[in-house]
Amino acid sequence: MSLKASDISSIIKKQIQEFSKKDMNFTSEEGQILSVGDGIALVSGLDKAKLGELLDFGNGAYGIVLNLEEDAVGVALMSSQTSIKEGGKVKRTKEVVSVGVGDELIGRVLNALGEPIDGKNLKTTKKRTVFRIAPGVMTRESVNEPLETGLILVDSLVPIGKGQRELIIGDRQTGKTAIAIDTIINQKGKNVNCIYVAIGQKNSTIAQIVERLKIAGAMEYTTIVVAGASELSPLQYLAPYTGVTIAEEWMEKGKNVLIVYDDLTKHAISYRTLSLLLRRPAGREAYPGDVFYLHAQLLERAARVNKKHSGGSITALPIIETQSGDISAYIPTNVISITDGQIFTSESLFNSGQRPAVDVGFSVSRVGSSAQIKAMKQVTSSLKLELSQFNEMQAFAQFSSDLDDSTKKILEHGKRVYEILKQNQYSPLDQSIQIVILFSIKNKLIKDIPIEHMQSFKTKLINFMKKEKNGIELRKEISTKKEIDSQLEKRIFSVIKDFVDSFIKTLGIFDIQSGENN
Ligand code: ATP
Ligand code: MG
Repeated sequence: MSLKASDISSIIKKQIQEFSKKDMNFTSEEGQILSVGDGIALVSGLDKAKLGELLDFGNGAYGIVLNLEEDAVGVALMSSQTSIKEGGKVKRTKEVVSVGVGDELIGRVLNALGEPIDGKNLKTTKKRTVFRIAPGVMTRESVNEPLETGLILVDSLVPIGKGQRELIIGDRQTGKTAIAIDTIINQKGKNVNCIYVAIGQKNSTIAQIVERLKIAGAMEYTTIVVAGASELSPLQYLAPYTGVTIAEEWMEKGKNVLIVYDDLTKHAISYRTLSLLLRRPAGREAYPGDVFYLHAQLLERAARVNKKHSGGSITALPIIETQSGDISAYIPTNVISITDGQIFTSESLFNSGQRPAVDVGFSVSRVGSSAQIKAMKQVTSSLKLELSQFNEMQAFAQFSSDLDDSTKKILEHGKRVYEILKQNQYSPLDQSIQIVILFSIKNKLIKDIPIEHMQSFKTKLINFMKKEKNGIELRKEISTKKEIDSQLEKRIFSVIKDFVDSFIKTLGIFDIQSGENN
């Protein structure tokens, strides 16, 4: 007897149908641990488990499914409990990882799972899943509002807009964190919620940062998410996603949020550890093939959404650490290509006392300048050129002793500009004061001030602008007009000129009285 093709197919169909029925009765809700170690567990029997699902290991221990293999799943453990052993039972929760969100989180310090670690109770009413798709193209709007950092060098030359992703990149100990913290401090009273995500840092460093933010009154609008150096790599991997999930809830309510990821180098390293332990194939520098996606999916979630979709924004300041200034390494180039510009901090500038040590030549902001107010654009139009001219001349002047007058002028001016652009930590400047300082640079009003008195000049000018009637009025006018018309230009010029003259006069008196020249 011969079988027809249609018969064969009907037999196979029937078998498949019966198989799936049998399969339904099979309990795939509970599995068994095959192996466990280094924060990774291999679990068999969970053939229904989904990618990213939370598994219950008992005793309050959880893990996320990261690998779906043919006959086992690879799980990243969220706690290092000793009760998790080979042969132990694991249950599905059918939930993906989610964290509590909402205004209750303001002023709190959380771990990567969104649980409080500051010793106080926390009750949130809403939860959000941690891994989400970024806002689509049609819901977005271009960056059109400035996010002021309060750092004169950044706000003038590498301005940041709300919704932008600006990378802070540089060697270790070059003031990267300082730039981000100052930016958070500067958001006081500006109705911006801030989130600082600390990945792989020492707990003592984080404690200092929290203390600093408290002193500056910035904890009133800031949330801190911590996955310290001693914590498991799955938690370090999760922390930035937890941070951005909290931010998204606020953005959807129409708020502006600033989020700092300090730093993504350590995040990439924790992901590499995780992937190697999960036995994923290693690629360049032993990172897994999807390490680009790791950061792209995170940073794409920063956005400025349009009015129809709440009009909120998430501005992201990721930080990347380089090795001896090498920005062409794997992870730095990845993140540079994902972000809308970078602030490059240089070790040599930092060590020479130029702080914040922003290297003007390597730093760029691709969208922020469209968000700058007109007055700021007017006073910074020639600054970048002047500084790069100075840098070039200075290199050249090292080799020759007699210089022509125009070169000397550029050098003298450049030195004064760099001196006045130095700024201490925790002292962000208001935009109108920045504009006045930049105005005095542009119009060469500072040319007669001796370099060694530049800092005291700056301090006195800031005081004058904050406390004296003339200064306060000028600031008010700049803030309301947002543009320097010819009448305002004349006014600023005459007020600052008078101020400079009287400052130089006090120097003269001081010199005569003390009988020395410093
Ligand atoms: P790491 O690589 O360790 O994270 P970092 O690049 O984040 O370092 P910071 O921790 O911000 O650097 O700064 C390094 C040191 O320099 C700190 O002690 C800080 O107080 C100091 N510093 C940073 N910025 C300034 C500044 N503008 N003026 C004076 N000191 C500063
Ligand atoms: Mg740092």
